Amino acid sequence: MGSGDIAEKPAGPSITITHVLEHLYCPRFTYFEHVLAIPERQERRWKVQKGRQVHLERQKVNKSYLRKKLGVTAREFDVPLASETLGVRGIADEVLTLDDGTLAPLDYKFAKKPRRVFRNQRMQSVLYGMLIEEVYQRPVNRGYLCYTRTNYEIVQLAIDARARRAAERAVREVLGVIQQGYLPQATRWKNRCGDCCYRNICIQ
Ligand code: SF4
Repeated sequence: MGSGDIAEKPAGPSITITHVLEHLYCPRFTYFEHVLAIPERQERRWKVQKGRQVHLERQKVNKSYLRKKLGVTAREFDVPLASETLGVRGIADEVLTLDDGTLAPLDYKFAKKPRRVFRNQRMQSVLYGMLIEEVYQRPVNRGYLCYTRTNYEIVQLAIDARARRAAERAVREVLGVIQQGYLPQATRWKNRCGDCCYRNICIQ
């Protein structure tokens, strides 16, 4: 997740990429947090402490791998991004310039590389990619995730039309709940309810 989501500015679109990811975790988070304005417990948030760690971890990424294997010609760090079109804002860990003239988001995960990239991680990369494309007015067709606990292995993800449609749908869902104020479906994954800070007020 973008390291700076915790410090996102109030200006621009009100929805952050973090909001979208929380919604993917359980759509009711959007309702409790943004319709009823009951704040989520801080320690449950993915974004806590990320900024500090990213700063340390990115120094360990193999720069020659980035340059030779991925064709990275330039890197920008902790880049604030906002799209009025998409209605989302966030701060990308890194924006990479690639030697084919495209740009790409690079996001750090303080975890082992999973067998298959999780949906929320994929979605996050796509959203950052879409923001980068709009802000820089340069093409983006892939994103990268760096798994620090698997020896900083970097995974490439496609940011194609299908992935973009899914991301737009997720943002529309979040906005729909906030604007219409309805209680959305609970997550299908009941094991998420056990340690959820809303479990005492949530009818499941
Ligand atoms: S208790 Fe379960 S369904 Fe309700 S908000 Fe939490 S995770 Fe979602």
